[in-house]
Amino acid sequence: MNQPRRLEGHNLLESDRPLLEALRREGAAWAEQGALEFGALLGGEPLRWGAEANRHPPVLVTLDRSGQRLDEVEFHPSWHRLLGLGVEHGLHAEPWRKPRAGAHVARAALFTLLGQVEAGVGCPLSMTYAAVPALRVSHELADEWEPRLTVRGYEPRLLPETEKASALCGMAMTERQGGSDVRANTTVARPAGDGSYELTGSKWFCSAPMSDVFLVLAQAPAGLSCFLLPRVLPDGSRNAVRLVRLKDKLGNRSNASAELELEGALAQIVGEEGRGVRTIIEMVNHTRLDCVLGTAALMRTAVSEATHYAAHRVAFGRPVGEQPLMLNVLADLCLESEAATVTALRLARAYDEAPVDPAQAVFRRLATAVSKYWVCKRGSAVTAEALECLGGNGYVEDFGLARLHRESPLNSIWEGTGNVNCLDVLRALDREPESVEAFLAEVELAAGGDPRLDRAIAALPEQLASAEEGGARRLVERMALSFQASLLVRHAPSAVADAFCASRLERDAGLALGTLPPGPELAAIVERHRPLA
Ligand SMILES: Cc1cc2nc3c(=O)[nH]c(=O)nc-3n(C[C@H](O)[C@H](O)[C@H](O)COP(=O)(O)OP(=O)(O)OC[C@H]3O[C@@H](n4cnc5c(N)ncnc54)[C@H](O)[C@@H]3O)c2cc1C
Repeated sequence: MNQPRRLEGHNLLESDRPLLEALRREGAAWAEQGALEFGALLGGEPLRWGAEANRHPPVLVTLDRSGQRLDEVEFHPSWHRLLGLGVEHGLHAEPWRKPRAGAHVARAALFTLLGQVEAGVGCPLSMTYAAVPALRVSHELADEWEPRLTVRGYEPRLLPETEKASALCGMAMTERQGGSDVRANTTVARPAGDGSYELTGSKWFCSAPMSDVFLVLAQAPAGLSCFLLPRVLPDGSRNAVRLVRLKDKLGNRSNASAELELEGALAQIVGEEGRGVRTIIEMVNHTRLDCVLGTAALMRTAVSEATHYAAHRVAFGRPVGEQPLMLNVLADLCLESEAATVTALRLARAYDEAPVDPAQAVFRRLATAVSKYWVCKRGSAVTAEALECLGGNGYVEDFGLARLHRESPLNSIWEGTGNVNCLDVLRALDREPESVEAFLAEVELAAGGDPRLDRAIAALPEQLASAEEGGARRLVERMALSFQASLLVRHAPSAVADAFCASRLERDAGLALGTLPPGPELAAIVERHRPLA
């Protein structure tokens, strides 16, 4: 009936050459065997769990049958299986549990693979991973919580510390009156007299509300501060955290995002009073890395599905994927996906090297904001175009692209919207000139490799020097494209790098995907990306 068979049963990593190459190149070749095994596992049954967990979204249970507070969220078993898989493979903690060169890159590759199956569980995995470095500013709290946050075992039930070895961590910053501007937070933290605080107020978005513990921003006497708030107190009683409502979301439907009321909830301060943003920013930076990884995963799935479908769907007597105009669309999707993957893994390497290399630390600072803005911004364009490659089927739930497309805008919104990340780049340009030097040094590693990139690199210092707020998006876009082009010129096949530079760095390039300069090499680009299934 000319309906391509479902794409399943293949090894997600073996099929993803840019990811496999980046894993080796960026310092985690030692993790290849384990990652290949994970890729093989994910290409099977878990693909169906992802669809199921979205078809059966979580349900809030506020009260038990006698009217006692429960504040629980019930999930479909497939959610637990997927989250369990992530925890068992250390996606929430491995670089902290077993630090070694390449540990963040290895985790990044696994995170990207799981994200190809289902994005929702990436949220609690990411927040738990990201909480650890923020928590480390308070040694006692880190000593108490880090062992639990890094255990490779998933225990879904909420239990006191004495009965549960593991823990997952969430984050509650955003309030109704302002999310980007957290200084407007009104949740109050009142010193309880014994070193702890009582938190009172509302949180408008709090994802993974079934987590064991949260990092929360609240106004203490000396200003906005960061707190660690457990859901169960040491005596086994529930902390005063009420789940009011779950958001009815566009996508990310397998995951729960709640509105919370804190009614004098007991919490411990993390870091110093009044320095809450500085403390939690360490967590935000790590979750921003995961937004880039998560979007690379969504793009990869979009490309896999589109190239597979087009190879097997015949129209006008030939597979649609062999027709010149479709070939152009597919190749352009492949370029965007490969650019996102190499960016994400290079960025992950900066997380590995930052603690021992100051240049990588400042590079990471700027490159995270640049990459978070641009890669996440491109996500929805890619999923929309890939969806159209399946024709009408792309618009139908069973084919998976609709779910992917609903998920895409989220990575651009949370952990700092597009504009907020651009403003963050401007702040770094203004206050941390060393991060600009490190960024330019990275981009210049490809100098001489492509004349269009050379021109873009030559123009950057002037563009950076004349940065202004209203033009920040265009500036960050240019920075991101130069960074991606630099990586592709150095590491990708010449057909990929050439087409990328021609379509992303030239002035007369088309605006839609599928506007690459035509040529015989487009077929080779698509073949590189088409899954081996
Ligand atoms: C599904 C989902 C889950 C979430 N989970 C969590 C969570 O677990 N914990 C949590 O704390 N938060 C969470 N959030 C909240 C999210 O981080 C915020 O929505 C986000 O930070 C934006 O804040 P806001 O919604 O208040 O938008 P606003 O801050 O009101 O921004 C509105 C618009 O104005 C723009 N804008 C704001 N300031 C400027 C400026 N100075 N210049 C130019 N433009 C500007 C923004 O880019 C945006 O486009 C979640 C959100 C979603 C959608």
